[in-house]
Amino acid sequence: MSEDRHGWVEPGVFEVAPGVHRIPLPLPTDGLRAVNVYAIESRDGLVLVDSGWALEVAQTRLEQSLGALGYEFGDIRRFLVTHMHRDHYTLAVALRRIYGPKIALGIGEQPSLERVIDRRLDGHATEMVRWGASDLAKEWLETFGSREDPEAGRRYELPDEWLDGTTDIDLGDRTLVALPTPGHTQGHVVFVDERAGVLFAGDHVLPHITPSIGFQPEPAKLPLGDYLDSLRLVRSYPDLRLLPAHGPVTPSVHARVDELLAHHEERLAETLAAVRDGAGTAYEAAMRLGWTRRHRRFDELDLFNKTLATGETAAHLDVLVVRGELRSSTAAGVVEYSPTPPGP
Ligand SMILES: [Zn+2]
Repeated sequence: MSEDRHGWVEPGVFEVAPGVHRIPLPLPTDGLRAVNVYAIESRDGLVLVDSGWALEVAQTRLEQSLGALGYEFGDIRRFLVTHMHRDHYTLAVALRRIYGPKIALGIGEQPSLERVIDRRLDGHATEMVRWGASDLAKEWLETFGSREDPEAGRRYELPDEWLDGTTDIDLGDRTLVALPTPGHTQGHVVFVDERAGVLFAGDHVLPHITPSIGFQPEPAKLPLGDYLDSLRLVRSYPDLRLLPAHGPVTPSVHARVDELLAHHEERLAETLAAVRDGAGTAYEAAMRLGWTRRHRRFDELDLFNKTLATGETAAHLDVLVVRGELRSSTAAGVVEYSPTPPGP
């Protein structure tokens, strides 16, 4: 693997556009390695896009990094958070309690965020039954369902501001446009700074990996359909530099969006072939597909990744139904898919 591929996780403060600094913060899981927080200097003060995970080591790193720019936590006016996942949102909540900066989040996150705050996390297991994966659902409930997580209620709070629809964010000498980009999560937003020529992409467009689709406390109806529409939406803007939440900064949003669209068309074709081959449920189709960049077999994945993979497959199947390539019917809560008979 090239150095570029992993070099981006190295600690530091990296100016990626005038007044815009990339600050990678550590994550406890090795899968994603780190999360990029972007510090924007503006006339209105310091604004951070995403915050990192509420971990002591991340908080210390952020404090040192802002210090290198001559700021401290009390200087942060505002957090603009791309989505509610804990590696993006929870450090903002922790810092708000002490220093009081405002937090903005896409309004589409509200149902899932309220579920997390109220600890109503049965949505995943219900979805797994729909996917025909009742044995996964059982294992899930045994593994995660009974585990009391006293942190969960404290990590999450509602934001100060819900971003509803396409919203101009005036920072005095700079205007960002918040664009709703549902898919990875229902309320995901990206921030466009056309004058600086950059897109703060969160997890919507990542340079080396594809974000998970359709796995949220409050499930969406057609998450992959939303995601593909959201990719086309950012593609309709002038080409910008890609400032992702995970991975290095790259020169072209358009180039990566085109790859992601092609990737999902390929996955749609493979998923359709799995059903033509006899798979009836999302779970059965997922078992016939290869997973991760290394094309691992489904049964080599752990419980969490099996669940993600099955949800991802369901999301592709549901798009194939909307496109008229498959039919679906539901019996006893399980969705069965079958090929559409050839027309007359
Ligand atoms: Zn993330």
